[in-house]
Amino acid sequence: MKTIECMDEMQSIGQEARANGKKIALVPTMGYLHRGHASLMEEGRKRADLLVVSIFVNPTQFGVGEDFDSYPRDMENDRAVAEAAGVDYIFAPRAVDMYPSGYQTYVNVEELTLPLCGANRPGHFRGVTTVVTKLFNLIAPNVALFGRKDYQQLAVIRQMVADLNMQVEVIGMPIVRDADGLAMSSRNSYLSPAERVSALCLSRSIRTVKAAFHGGERSVAALKKIVIDTIGKEACAVIDYVEFRHCTTLAPMDRADEQTVLALAVKIGKTRLIDNGILGEE
Ligand code: AMP
Repeated sequence: MKTIECMDEMQSIGQEARANGKKIALVPTMGYLHRGHASLMEEGRKRADLLVVSIFVNPTQFGVGEDFDSYPRDMENDRAVAEAAGVDYIFAPRAVDMYPSGYQTYVNVEELTLPLCGANRPGHFRGVTTVVTKLFNLIAPNVALFGRKDYQQLAVIRQMVADLNMQVEVIGMPIVRDADGLAMSSRNSYLSPAERVSALCLSRSIRTVKAAFHGGERSVAALKKIVIDTIGKEACAVIDYVEFRHCTTLAPMDRADEQTVLALAVKIGKTRLIDNGILGEE
């Protein structure tokens, strides 16, 4: 496994591999790698000859007052996780090279980025789609793997790839959870032990809503109340949003069906966590 910082070097490796008929898989990440990231890499390993994981804490997707400076970083552990997952190249460019002074080009997906995380994090998805476009141009992957943990992000990337005729197959991977149900996230490292326990209200509310749905409840208002009541029991939890949306179009729904995704963003103390679940899935 080799770590590459230089954008030209990465681009040459991608181009040469493609010219030699090799299939390239890319897993874009912001590092501080955990088992969720590893599951994407392992799937990428199966689907390609060359597996690249990018590690880049992307400044353009963080808003003012968000956690860009404090975002956790641990390159040594990241190397170990990537190596164990069979990664060929870690691509870890420098922010000044990705966005040199005078940089002024952004990619923006419109409607899909307005609700949910887009509503409270203006500019976030514009930063995501811009950096993913740059990574696609630099690495030329045939396949790119994303987690369903970032549900809206996956929908936005799929839309961008379709709209801009990008020749990349986008694979959405299941959410990897700790044994107690908490969705794995680099940001879980911000949680105190007590907050870590409170944070279980996200996955618990998704499980409770699924049970009610499978018991016959179809009213989104009633299902939403379950989430609000479950999260309301945690003193340090503040809801950012609780939304029931169609799982592909993200259109709002009044009546739930198998295709409804429950998407949540909740602040546990100062840490904003997201989670989701499709009601028709176990
Ligand atoms: P991040 O480093 O948080 O930007 O995440 C990089 C990729 O890993 C994204 O596609 C995430 O959706 C995915 N990911 C993060 N956490 C998980 C998880 N718990 N399960 C599956 N995928 C995840």
